[in-house]
Amino acid sequence: MNKLKLVFATNNKHKLEEVQAMLTNFEIVSLADINCFEDIPETADTLEGNAILKANFITEKYGLDCFADDTGLEVEALNKEPGVYSARYAGENNNAEANMNKLLKNLENTQNRKAQFKTAIALNIQGKQFIFEGVCKGTILTEKRGDSGFGYDPIFMPDGFNRSFAEMNLAEKGNISHRGKAVEKLVTFLKEHHW
Ligand code: IMP
Repeated sequence: MNKLKLVFATNNKHKLEEVQAMLTNFEIVSLADINCFEDIPETADTLEGNAILKANFITEKYGLDCFADDTGLEVEALNKEPGVYSARYAGENNNAEANMNKLLKNLENTQNRKAQFKTAIALNIQGKQFIFEGVCKGTILTEKRGDSGFGYDPIFMPDGFNRSFAEMNLAEKGNISHRGKAVEKLVTFLKEHHW
């Protein structure tokens, strides 16, 4: 039987890999697969708002059902920064290394290393919109560890583990991560509604 296709509004290959591994009953289609190479605006000031902007862009422009995610890292000692601005923490044209370096610097001499990743997913399906959230609590390490994953993974250690996300494989991270939890809710919802 052909799997149902669902557009995931991203070209981030790490996210695509993580989510495809969790949504085995669906064929996940990326933005590149639908020939969308535009920079979709992420101008909202909440994760949920940005997820909605991305999902609506695709549904309105391409007429497709889809889902989009937005993730932020909230650090307690930094008043929940970088939060919705996690991708641009070290500036517009910076990368994960620069973002991590800035965060480590800002937490130098700080005892409270508590942080959480938060993911919001917006699903547009058959003319309706649904939102799912996932949170993963942990601590910010004092140095980078591991080389799997992406983004802030090398400096985030989830509660109950003594390894960073970047020292875990895809399945391990997916079981406990913010995105994993949000996707789990999405899967349960899709199953309950027989999609
Ligand atoms: P966005 O959801 O792609 O906008 O991600 C915002 C920022 O958080 C980017 O810097 C990503 O690299 C980072 N990020 C998103 N998801 C994860 C994750 O699962 N682990 C580590 N960093 C992440």
